[in-house]
Amino acid sequence: MSESPSNRALVLFSGGQDSTVCLAWALERYDTVETVGFDYGQKHLVEMDCRPVVREAIRAAFPDWAAKLGPDHVLALPELARISDTALTRDVEIEMGENGLPTTFVPGRNLIFLTYAAALGYRRGAQTLVGGMCETDFSGYPDCRNDAIQALAHALTLGMDRPFQLETPLMWLDKAATWALADTLGGEALANIVIEKTHTCYRGERSVRHDWGYGCGTCPACDLRARGYENWRAAQRA
Ligand code: ZN
Repeated sequence: MSESPSNRALVLFSGGQDSTVCLAWALERYDTVETVGFDYGQKHLVEMDCRPVVREAIRAAFPDWAAKLGPDHVLALPELARISDTALTRDVEIEMGENGLPTTFVPGRNLIFLTYAAALGYRRGAQTLVGGMCETDFSGYPDCRNDAIQALAHALTLGMDRPFQLETPLMWLDKAATWALADTLGGEALANIVIEKTHTCYRGERSVRHDWGYGCGTCPACDLRARGYENWRAAQRA
């Protein structure tokens, strides 16, 4: 490796809108960017299928980024599905649970993902991890909060005896601002990749194409994505 470790980043990349924008953000900033995805027994593997398609679309549309885009890694975490009793992995209706969190919530999922990513990053010489966690417009997942992420960065740095940075470029953005960030980073070409190639819908629906992309149009993820898109376009027109 000729470049310094600080110029290598590992992006938690699910194939959804948020992590696609994070990937573009990292490609704009670091010399080498690798991606990691987690197969944890999601009820729908649509997102996983989108991952290589999105990477290829970015590679084709942005030659400068293509030169920096390193290998993709997929880690299987089947035990997470066994432990978690949620709507993503079982046939539970997606709704708000008694604890005020949606039934899609997998306890501590992001902490587990980031810890696995750090172990991989250690091996790959990438101590900057990039993830799409967000406090602003989210469903209340406590492991998306900045305090939790930065506490984990500290624990990883101590526990692996290397300085880990956890970068969360979407932390303080709402969904409209995430669309705008895609536009800033890669213009309409990147916005089009987000619309056409990424997947966010909790129900795994890809047969209906809306202005904002594919999805059922009614689940919480579709609702956020659609409203963010409308607000972004409205701000563009203003
Ligand atoms: Zn949906």
